[in-house]
Amino acid sequence: MGYEKERAIAVHAVLEACRLCVRVQAGLVSKETLAKKDRSPVTVADFGAQALINHILHEEFPEIPMVGEEDASRLREPEHRAVLDRVVGFVQEIRSDLTSEKVLDAIDGGKHPGGSQGRHWVLDPVDGTKGFLRNEQYAVALGLIEDGKVVLGVLGCPNLPVDLDDPEAGIGCIFIAVRGGGAVQRRIGSEEETPVKTDHLHDLRSVRVCESVESGHSSHNDSTKIMELLGIRREPYRIDSQCKYAAVARGDVSAYLRLPTGMGYEERIWDHAAGSIVVEEAGGMVTDLRGRPLDFSLGRTLRENRGVIVTNGRIHEHVLEACRAVVG
Ligand code: AMP
Ligand code: MG
Repeated sequence: MGYEKERAIAVHAVLEACRLCVRVQAGLVSKETLAKKDRSPVTVADFGAQALINHILHEEFPEIPMVGEEDASRLREPEHRAVLDRVVGFVQEIRSDLTSEKVLDAIDGGKHPGGSQGRHWVLDPVDGTKGFLRNEQYAVALGLIEDGKVVLGVLGCPNLPVDLDDPEAGIGCIFIAVRGGGAVQRRIGSEEETPVKTDHLHDLRSVRVCESVESGHSSHNDSTKIMELLGIRREPYRIDSQCKYAAVARGDVSAYLRLPTGMGYEERIWDHAAGSIVVEEAGGMVTDLRGRPLDFSLGRTLRENRGVIVTNGRIHEHVLEACRAVVG
């Protein structure tokens, strides 16, 4: 199986980034910023998380490049000096040796084009920025791709309930998967790992599905039709970010539908790399609408795929059939 060192460093990096995100969210996302639709808190968290993670990974694996969502070009402009200072301030609370220059360079370490050869990290430093701003769900999502296939995924979910059925258990978890090695969950702050498994439901009447909160990211109209066709009666569970993959992986829900809202959008690899391996290693299935595996070998987007369908495996064919009928 291998990947022990990659796994350990990736988990450490994601946990440090989660710590930064939690601090930014606690300090900056006030009712006031929400009302003003001020996106600066998430900007600070996004840049800060990418800087920390890339710096930590680069120290241990200088030869592995990164495909990261952010780059520092705007942050380098003099007019954004104040934002840069805030980013550096939060980063230095965790790594005091990181100067502005090091922070900018670490962020710009994410420009790799991806592709089918060798290894690269894939990072969404704050996936679900809308959820972050609403003080709801978001995820720090890090994957490792080797020769076009995801081999390691780490998904930090600082606001996700540790156990959906037990409110006393608190929030904050991290999911880790290595190809062939299963998937586990940890509570943030603990090193104890619990295996996660998808549910085994196949009776569609008892199945629950999750989808994006944002109808601009996944068609709610089409999912309503698909659920009707399948006889699914339960209301969809709407949460932001790759927390949806985590929800399928540990059986909170049986499926995650991501249905195109218009022609032409290419899904980004950082929105799916970590989540998809966590679900597959938990026993589930991940394909696009036509049943094809997600192709991570083509660069920064999944340009040969359309939509994403994630299930516990058992109901996959039924869901695909309904998708074909509704989306065509
Ligand atoms: P979610 O939290 O599931 O709503 O997904 C958030 C992700 O949706 C962001 O990270 C964006 O990369 C991605 N996104 C942005 N526009 C679209 C779109 N039109 N269709 C699908 N995903 C999108
Ligand atoms: Mg994202």
